Amino acid sequence: MEQTDIKSLTLTELWEEFQGRGEKAFRADQVYQWMHEKLAEDISRMSNLPKAFREWLEKEYEYVTLEIVEIQRSKLDGTCKYLFRLPDGHVIESVLMRYRHGNSVCISSQAGCRMGCRFCASAIGGLKRNLRPSEMLEQIYRIQQDCGERVSNVVVMGTGEPLDNYDNLVRFIRLLSHEKGLNISQRSITVSTCGIVPGIRALAEEELSVTLALSLHAVTQEKRRELMPIANRYELKEVLDACGYYFQKTGRRLTFEYSLVQGVNDSREDAKALAALAGPLHAHVNLIPVNPVTERDFVQPGEKIIDNFKKNLEKCGINATLRREMGRDIDGACGQLRRKYLKGGE
Ligand code: SAH
Repeated sequence: MEQTDIKSLTLTELWEEFQGRGEKAFRADQVYQWMHEKLAEDISRMSNLPKAFREWLEKEYEYVTLEIVEIQRSKLDGTCKYLFRLPDGHVIESVLMRYRHGNSVCISSQAGCRMGCRFCASAIGGLKRNLRPSEMLEQIYRIQQDCGERVSNVVVMGTGEPLDNYDNLVRFIRLLSHEKGLNISQRSITVSTCGIVPGIRALAEEELSVTLALSLHAVTQEKRRELMPIANRYELKEVLDACGYYFQKTGRRLTFEYSLVQGVNDSREDAKALAALAGPLHAHVNLIPVNPVTERDFVQPGEKIIDNFKKNLEKCGINATLRREMGRDIDGACGQLRRKYLKGGE
């Protein structure tokens, strides 16, 4: 019989599990805190539980932990890239970024991805499988343990499309923001999507207050379709309407991510059109000069073009930031560390 993944259970579910066995209610609190607050690496470390109970837990449940395969530490800005091995052998990567306002971790939501965005390294090998809530949490837990500093922000912007793994994502958010766990404020959690319309609408109904980031990258349906196959499924207008709905339901300011690619989406007209889309939705624009990926030939625009693009947005009253490049000296672009590892093994 397959064991239940105990780290993916909510506190209420733990209560129910243990109650069925005649355990006292506080045992669920203790186990929950060991897993999600003290970040115990295995059940044997839960020192205030009776030995027989710990043995029962070990027999009954799967206790998911991630193994660190490799850590790359940037000498420039303290950014660290982690390569983890999942219990079934797949590898994923996560990034720790150190900002003045606190530590931020970028996690993967799937092993691989099936969205196929043209400029993205994660798309190259396709989707292996969805990550379970425990496997998303563990990326943060292991990083916090390794660096010995508190993680205050989480962005679901690593490999994978979070809204293609919807139920696990929502459960992960609830566990991560639970007061008896790491208690990370939902306002400090960002979910980035390539624009899966039903997923955006469903997330708006969850009564969560997480920030939604839309990977827009192009201002017309035609151009977007060239960069992102998902645009064949959902029209730009539908995606923007869903974003508007999310903003209306949650009151959370939206972010549009826009990867600048030389000669593709970096003209003054593009900037104007982008402003016209972002303005009515009160969206903040995050500009990311496209990260060169070995297997792809997209090129970053020059400094001046990037600067002008940002200025043109600001002239139209749009709040825009240029994403500071972190960890330039380590495998910088999304999914590249994992990609390199997988290629080495081929
Ligand atoms: N699937 C989600 C989250 C993962 S990608 C999404 O599409 O939003 C996180 C962000 O990095 C997205 O905006 C994605 O389009 C962008 N990205 C991927 N590869 C990139 C590259 N080579 N250069 C710049 N941005 C890239």
